[in-house]
Amino acid sequence: MPTIFTKIINREIPADIVYENEKILAFKDINPAAPVHVLIVPKKEIPTVNDIQKEDKELIGEMYLAVGEIAKKLGIAEDGYRVITNCNYNGGQEVFHLHFHLLGGKKLGKLVE
Ligand code: AMP
Repeated sequence: MPTIFTKIINREIPADIVYENEKILAFKDINPAAPVHVLIVPKKEIPTVNDIQKEDKELIGEMYLAVGEIAKKLGIAEDGYRVITNCNYNGGQEVFHLHFHLLGGKKLGKLVE
């Protein structure tokens, strides 16, 4: 099922895009939880981590390479940051199109409340 992220990828709704290549789009989270909060999204529609297939191995690696590039570009690489993926109900997933949250720009609190 296409989600709001597919609409962003297809430029049907606006987003503050910080990075794009053939397979990946990254844009600022509309409701940031940290001074830097970017979502790294594969253009391929993969609903959750549970749906990642062996054929997606390279794509997932490329998403992490994009994380590193974006962190450097936004000036948070040296101080550090956190990468999170929520999955399904217990993970708190709201948008069912795989994404990494890249969070930084301050010392982050505990991982789990
Ligand atoms: P998750 O809970 O991991 O599925 O995270 C979904 C994230 O998408 C949340 O942090 C939302 O703030 C963010 N979000 C929802 N709609 C938009 C949008 N139109 N543009 C940017 N970020 C969005």
